[in-house]
Amino acid sequence: MNRPILLSPPHLGIQELEFVKEAFETNWIAPVGPHIEAFEREFCEIVGARHAAAVSSGTAALHLALQLLGVERGDEVFCSTFTFVATANPILYQGATPVFIDSDRSSWNMDPALLAEALADRAKRGKLPKAVVLVHLYGQSADIDPIRSTCAQYEVPLVEDAAEALGASYKGKSPGNFGKLGIFSFNGNKIITTSGGGMLVTEDESLAAQARYLATQARDPAPHYQHSQVGYNYRLSNVLAGIGRGQLQVLADRVAARRHNFKMYRDALQHLPGIDFMPEASFGISTRWLSCITLDPDRSGLNPEQLRLALAAEQIESRPVWKPLHLQPVFKDCEVIGGRVAADLFTRGLCLPSGSSLTQTDRNRIVATIQRQFQMASVE
Ligand SMILES: *Cc1c(COP(=O)(O)O)cnc(C)c1O
Repeated sequence: MNRPILLSPPHLGIQELEFVKEAFETNWIAPVGPHIEAFEREFCEIVGARHAAAVSSGTAALHLALQLLGVERGDEVFCSTFTFVATANPILYQGATPVFIDSDRSSWNMDPALLAEALADRAKRGKLPKAVVLVHLYGQSADIDPIRSTCAQYEVPLVEDAAEALGASYKGKSPGNFGKLGIFSFNGNKIITTSGGGMLVTEDESLAAQARYLATQARDPAPHYQHSQVGYNYRLSNVLAGIGRGQLQVLADRVAARRHNFKMYRDALQHLPGIDFMPEASFGISTRWLSCITLDPDRSGLNPEQLRLALAAEQIESRPVWKPLHLQPVFKDCEVIGGRVAADLFTRGLCLPSGSSLTQTDRNRIVATIQRQFQMASVE
């Protein structure tokens, strides 16, 4: 029986356990402690951020970001449609309404021209959104500059969901640093993990301080427990921050390994009929967090679901690309601007196993399974 190959499993280095041991030995098991501050500081250095607040998940970071921007009931928030549901759920937590924006084909991320049109139209009607949430998908940055300047033109704050793009670059700088607030995730399947966790980054020191305040039940400075605002229990634990510090040390290796996976897949599979790879946009470097392909069933004789099932039969986990949010039942009443590009990618896309611990033997097995399916499809 072949060993199962997972889509994107955690991959620990050697320092993580040392940091966790330190937390145990000093009894900093309480949800505060020295690893948290150190993790924030080291994260800022690596990502080039000014201030960071470590929290319990990427979703919590997004929720805090929207709260800090004053998003509330009755507001609209523009949001990438081609993404994981966690990008948009916090909009609903705030009682606001998402308006989804389609992707472009060069980055698979928010189409800057479409955003510009949509904001111009809303400005004319005097109904600008309270924020724009921009996603950087699968390790690739969106085309941030035109998006940022359009947002600046209409004075709409930009929030970057860089949950999948830690280690990526846009014109030499990490995504997440361009908007008013940016978020990252350390969920178990991300490029580095704390088992669960997230980070909020910002240039604005007072926003970072407010984020930490809201994340710890909004406790006012007083000897007793005093609260004048609704808060959350969103702070990252000191133990998990220790794992994060260890993972940060291997981030560059993880990016290199995932890019290597992608290159090996492309070299081995690009000649197959009707197969294409997620493009790497010219303005940045993708981490290839997940290696994504698209299939043209007319040419390959295969659709992504057939290929997914064939891989699953060999104990190999692959996954359809994100189903666009405008097609999700939970958002069925929400407006979408465009939508055809993301819908097309969804019908044709598949994510291949992309873990940084994948071996050459694993990749050979995956490639052989895919080649065999193409062969069988061409015979039929
Ligand atoms: C993983 C992810 C999130 C949420 O992060 P969690 O840490 O799992 O809450 C948000 N947005 C995107 C695009 C993600 O992939």
